[in-house]
Amino acid sequence: MTERIVVLGGGYAGLGAAKRAARRLRGTGARVTLVNASDRFVERVRLHQLAAGQRLIGLPLPRLLDGTGVELVVARATGIDLGARIVRLDAAPHELGYDVLIYALGSGADLDAVPGAAEHAFTVATAGEAARLRSRLAEARSVAVVGGGLTGIETATEIKAARPRLEVRLISAGRIGDGLSERARRHLHRACDRLGVTVREHAPVAEVGPDGLLLGDGCRVPADTVVWAAGFRVPGLAAASGLATDEGGRMLVDAALRSLSHPGVLGIGDAAAAGTASGRSRMSCQTGLPMGLHAGDAAARLLTGRTPRPARIRYVWQNISLGRHDGVSQFARADDSPLGAAVVTGRLSALFKEAITRGTVWRLRHPGPYRP
Ligand SMILES: Cc1cc2nc3c(=O)[nH]c(=O)nc-3n(C[C@H](O)[C@H](O)[C@H](O)COP(=O)(O)OP(=O)(O)OC[C@H]3O[C@@H](n4cnc5c(N)ncnc54)[C@H](O)[C@@H]3O)c2cc1C
Repeated sequence: MTERIVVLGGGYAGLGAAKRAARRLRGTGARVTLVNASDRFVERVRLHQLAAGQRLIGLPLPRLLDGTGVELVVARATGIDLGARIVRLDAAPHELGYDVLIYALGSGADLDAVPGAAEHAFTVATAGEAARLRSRLAEARSVAVVGGGLTGIETATEIKAARPRLEVRLISAGRIGDGLSERARRHLHRACDRLGVTVREHAPVAEVGPDGLLLGDGCRVPADTVVWAAGFRVPGLAAASGLATDEGGRMLVDAALRSLSHPGVLGIGDAAAAGTASGRSRMSCQTGLPMGLHAGDAAARLLTGRTPRPARIRYVWQNISLGRHDGVSQFARADDSPLGAAVVTGRLSALFKEAITRGTVWRLRHPGPYRP
């Protein structure tokens, strides 16, 4: 019988894994099948740009897979039978058997974090949600972006740069850009001042309502549009299927990215928690794509009876766009801690980030030999 690798999720991690596995197994007769909820690759790192009104280039998966031998199935995975090695889907062919499974379902916005967020907040976590926010912004007058991490900062500054007349507030439970060096954080504040984004730090949100936010200290922040960018959460499929997960539902994997409970399943990208020098892997495209390329190699090794090699998950930088013409690039140690003085700001950082973002798509088109 033909052996088969099934990859669930065609984002940065899953697409990289599928293409790499197919490349490794070319000529062996093994099949690689990629299951994704849509027939498009979504450049999630640009979704704040989409929300702010920019057009993104279309990246149809069939074109990205052309000539690779990877079969694409457009369907949602609804269940995994780990004993029978079958994935259940909500569309034809409804079931797929596998010999090695790669789990790469990514993440979405965590809208259950406070009451009212699910009913009233917009997000930039998926292409559909970012497009819904873009339509809303056409009529909005005041926007409150919740979340002082990278996604919140990028979203608030991108919206304000594109729509200067909008009142934009950035609300953070702690400091904005908390993991960055003081130098990088100073630039974030300068950029927000220059653009006119009002920053409110140490202001945890207790509730989201139709006309704004209620903060933990009882103060209200008026806004006709709330954008929730305070953390991602992963799909529940891994936990529901019986795969070992952490408290947030991310699949727990060993050094070779194999499930701790079911070593015939590999977990990558946002949906998996791998060990790093600083703890568990941070949800990022920066680690998702290398994890994917490594998993493609590992799956091919498993299918041919060899032991997968350990992955080395290392960080290099954090690149934050502040509109299209400004940014902060914070270089980091392998454990993700900031290299204090190694900061590039302004137009150079914006150009650098754009080059990295384009380079990532180029890498997905050409997933050559793995380099950490
Ligand atoms: C606005 C924004 C800006 C960001 N900026 C950066 C940045 O500058 N740098 C950085 O490193 N990271 C950034 N990130 C985070 C980065 O986008 C994610 O870490 C990355 O997308 C994770 O890749 P992934 O392949 O694990 O998941 P995803 O890219 O989320 O892909 C998951 C795929 O699985 C599919 N899927 C989900 N459920 C199912 C199902 N049940 N069945 C079938 N298919 C399913 C989805 O449709 C999707 O195609 C940003 C995120 C956002 C939202």
